[in-house]
Amino acid sequence: MIRVRHALAKGAFRLDVDVEVPDTGVTGVFGPSGSGKTTLLRCIAGLERSAHDSGLPAHRRNVGYVFQRPALFPHLDVEANIRYGARRAASARVDADQVIDILGIGELLDRRPGTLSGGQAQRVAIAAALLRSPDLVLMDEPLASLDQARKDELLPYFDRLREELSIPVIYVSHEIDEISRLCDHLVVLDDGKVVAAGSLFDLLAFADVPQLGGGNAGVVLWGKPVDTEDGLTCFDFGDGDIWAPGDFTGESVALRLRIAANDVSICRERSSETTILNVLRATVEHVRDDDDATVIVRLRLGNQKLLARVTRRSVKRLVLKEGDRVFAQVKSVTVRRQAPTALLGR
Ligand code: ADP
Ligand code: MG
Repeated sequence: MIRVRHALAKGAFRLDVDVEVPDTGVTGVFGPSGSGKTTLLRCIAGLERSAHDSGLPAHRRNVGYVFQRPALFPHLDVEANIRYGARRAASARVDADQVIDILGIGELLDRRPGTLSGGQAQRVAIAAALLRSPDLVLMDEPLASLDQARKDELLPYFDRLREELSIPVIYVSHEIDEISRLCDHLVVLDDGKVVAAGSLFDLLAFADVPQLGGGNAGVVLWGKPVDTEDGLTCFDFGDGDIWAPGDFTGESVALRLRIAANDVSICRERSSETTILNVLRATVEHVRDDDDATVIVRLRLGNQKLLARVTRRSVKRLVLKEGDRVFAQVKSVTVRRQAPTALLGR
């Protein structure tokens, strides 16, 4: 584990963090805008002076830093940019050719940053950070300046990075979808304080914090593709089957299935008259307040959990309470490819 302990005041804002994060895999730092995510990364990198800090100057810390907007030297070509600050091969933990291959920038090496698209420039910036052979990579909303199409284009490169390199990453984002796709561990930040920290899967299902409520509420399950029909894939998630759009039967490993609480509804009886494909037997485990009109119901499906975000009025009308046997209707499932090495301990 890596202990992350920093405290500082910036005007009215106070950062006060003391948390342990794993030294493998991807740790997400999730929180609303202004919660101190960037300040925390800057403290870790030594760019801000904080209490409890090692005091090592930034250039002597072995961290790679990827910013929201790629920071590249405009007068150098891509190759010179990624080699700048790179460690000599003898001490390198990462191989330059491998990084160039993973990030798909071999064709870009003699280009100037000004001629690159936003997504290409960000891939180059990530390569530059990795070639410094860091012990830890810090990524500050690396997708936030890109449109959805560019994000979708870049995400598979992150999948490959986590699959093929063993450098721990701290990944900052205020997008729960990105966090759900990429991270194993999660730290939730609010107003400079850690409000929850732990396994991503457990926090999503169990953390009773407002930051993981509302439109952010949802779970991640693991599903093994077992069948395909009508353009859908059937995933075995251990406690049943879930159908989702797309053909994933070529994948030999379990994939991440993100199920947003807004896409889950609850019925007492199984209805045959529904367009919803996924109807799962479940038991009501817990009901927690969300906002004025809604609650979040935690459902148990065998060993796994599902969250449903429904109106308080419906819960009253159905007289739902803990222990009730119900049916969960799952409207939509987002399937994310998942690397085998990320299945740590699973
Ligand atoms: P996040 O990255 O989560 O959006 P930041 O770390 O950028 O949050 O900012 C945390 C808080 O620090 C915010 O409330 C912001 O207003 C404040 N802040 C950031 N930079 C400065 C500064 N130079 N002077 C005073 N306050 C600042
Ligand atoms: Mg920020």
